[in-house]
Amino acid sequence: MSDYKFFEQVNKAFDKAGEHTKFDKGLLSQMKICNDVLHVTFPIEKDDGTIDVIEAWRVEHSHHKLPTKGGIRYSMTVNEDETMALAALMTYKCAVVDVPFGGAKGGIKIDKSKYSESELERITRRYTFELMKKDFIGPGIDVPAPDYGTSAKEMGWILDTFRQMSTDINAEGCVTGKPISMGGIRGRTEATGRGVYFGIYEACQNREDMKSLGLNPGLEGKTFVVQGLGNVGYHAANNMIQGGAKMVGVAEMDGSIYSEKGIDLDKLMQYKKENNGITGFEGSKDLENSSAVLEAECDILIPAALENQITEKNAPNVKAKIIGEAANGPTTSEAHRILKEKGALIIPDNYLNAGGVTVSYFEWLKNIQHVRFGRMGKRFEENSYKKILSVIETISDRKFTEKELGVLAKGGGEAELVDSGLEETMIIAYNEINEVRKTHNVDLRTAAFISAINKVGSIYNQMGIFP
Ligand code: NAD
Repeated sequence: MSDYKFFEQVNKAFDKAGEHTKFDKGLLSQMKICNDVLHVTFPIEKDDGTIDVIEAWRVEHSHHKLPTKGGIRYSMTVNEDETMALAALMTYKCAVVDVPFGGAKGGIKIDKSKYSESELERITRRYTFELMKKDFIGPGIDVPAPDYGTSAKEMGWILDTFRQMSTDINAEGCVTGKPISMGGIRGRTEATGRGVYFGIYEACQNREDMKSLGLNPGLEGKTFVVQGLGNVGYHAANNMIQGGAKMVGVAEMDGSIYSEKGIDLDKLMQYKKENNGITGFEGSKDLENSSAVLEAECDILIPAALENQITEKNAPNVKAKIIGEAANGPTTSEAHRILKEKGALIIPDNYLNAGGVTVSYFEWLKNIQHVRFGRMGKRFEENSYKKILSVIETISDRKFTEKELGVLAKGGGEAELVDSGLEETMIIAYNEINEVRKTHNVDLRTAAFISAINKVGSIYNQMGIFP
């Protein structure tokens, strides 16, 4: 178990930001605490007939908006403190990007590698049953999503279990991050990593910030390292490379690798699949251990694994000038202070990894609307563009080729609309917290917390406290 109390770390950042707001101390305490904490234990029968007792949690941090929303984590690190911290972060994150949900989080304390697929399915279904029995899941109550150690597959099992026991017409909206065939949405799998890219991209456009870091504006040519090549890390890295940055270092469970010349992501993914790790990858050198990459030479460090990775022990050696917190809580509060003193720009988790919940929100809207985005308007848009283009052809004597027409008259389908909504959300939110940063002369993390506290607090003020 980590030496760091994660919920305490989150609350320290909250308290610091709270000082910049006008809310009553009691109201701030109410905003901070977790409204409901569910701890369950249940048995599952293993394939060999023996029985394991499984421990799991679901925490609903804030009911100021419903449903509550947050991922489900499968890991041996899962405990009540971690789940409470992650649920609280969800509340603030949703507020920062104007996603109308309260925060929640769930977790099952298991080592996935010790269970077969069918055992994992039984664990997931039983966990869903426990959540249903205690009213901790439902399209208007609490809506889980994937997180560390889970993916669309587990979300599919959750929906199927929920549907067996519910006649709710909006049942599909009880979980997001599902397979598309079960009501999922295009772009959800990539969303968190893509959002990380949009956030880092926007930060790098800020000439003043880049100047004070001694860097050129823009992403082109900047070097980055990534810790954790899972869902978030892979998609963040892939988008960063497409955006012109160079990946020079990667860490996974088995160790870390570095190459000044750059690492080919697709080849590395193939190598990782074949070798169950990344060390020994051709053209790069192995570093001494998996956390060594955090101290490697680069412009941008993207921790995308777990919390409490950058601590007061390694923060003094971090060379990156920009820290893009793709994971939740990767930097302890002491490490944050050290990095700030060194002049680094920290793009905080409660903003940067909000792309996942943003697209989850789109998925939930799709589910409760019972219609795919773009279904009503795509063809209408295309026909309108074609009419405009034909007028241009008539007045300009210019004939568009079929290929040009295909590009110029393309209407927005689900994938395009989701991506556009994600980009808009991440860019607007960055500029919003950047304004708060300037107004209060604070760092971006504190600014994101101030922004979240103001939004959540104003709802509490309007609601009044129920007698
Ligand atoms: P994942 O399980 O898909 O991937 C995590 C990866 O990190 C795995 O490949 C694992 O082997 C690696 N890893 C674990 N410990 C490591 C270490 N010490 N050093 C190097 N690599 C290590 O999980 P994910 O969904 O990508 O989540 C990663 C982080 O992002 C978590 O903090 C999670 O809470 C956060 N997050 C995820 C989402 C999402 O949509 N999945 C959304 C918001 C935030």
